[in-house]
Amino acid sequence: MGSNGHQAHQSGLIATMAEMEQWNAPGHVQTPDSLQKDLDQGLRFAHVMMSITQHDAREGLVFARSLAELLVSKGLIDQQELEEMMSCIGRQLDELPTPKVRLAKSEDKYAGEHTVLINCAERLPLCKAKCCTFSFYLTEQDLDEGIVRWDYRRPYWIRRRADGYCTHCDPLTHRCGIHAHRPYVCRAYDCRQDKRVWLDFERMIPNSEG
Ligand code: SF4
Ligand code: SF4
Repeated sequence: MGSNGHQAHQSGLIATMAEMEQWNAPGHVQTPDSLQKDLDQGLRFAHVMMSITQHDAREGLVFARSLAELLVSKGLIDQQELEEMMSCIGRQLDELPTPKVRLAKSEDKYAGEHTVLINCAERLPLCKAKCCTFSFYLTEQDLDEGIVRWDYRRPYWIRRRADGYCTHCDPLTHRCGIHAHRPYVCRAYDCRQDKRVWLDFERMIPNSEG
């Protein structure tokens, strides 16, 4: 595939990402139809990314092998030295960190013992649900339920909107739209000592920075 094929993949990727941005728009509401559409677009995104990666890998391989063959045939490098160098570089590459799919382990989120009770309704006008701007990843239990949305570009982190809030946080009231099914971490989180949220929890003085 030449550069035209590569450009087609890139423009397909840009179009898909533009559509995906809509998921993060404030007020985006999930319905069974839009869920199916999200899934289709997520798969399309994955396939386009895979095609780009395959294309780039093939181009790199063709270039490297052509260069090596040419240098060996001209007597400029030795075949054995080349193989030793390839194994050395291969080992170095194996040690590089690679992006990983993140999935949290937790006990049953509905078990209840871990749930922290805080008078959120009373505090929301002050804290503006700052806890719902924090990033975290989901559990197998969340994925099995298929209710909590995850970020297709960063599996399986909670999906957040462009304004930084979790996609389930109502943009106006800051209430959780999936309260009964919210993830484990939302139930167990305790903001009382978290200085990102409260300068003084007891006196209800929020940290308005950030
Ligand atoms: S920051 Fe604290 S008080 Fe505010 S919504 Fe979150 S848990 Fe409740
Ligand atoms: S799931 Fe609900 S409680 Fe948890 S971060 Fe999102 S809006 Fe907040």
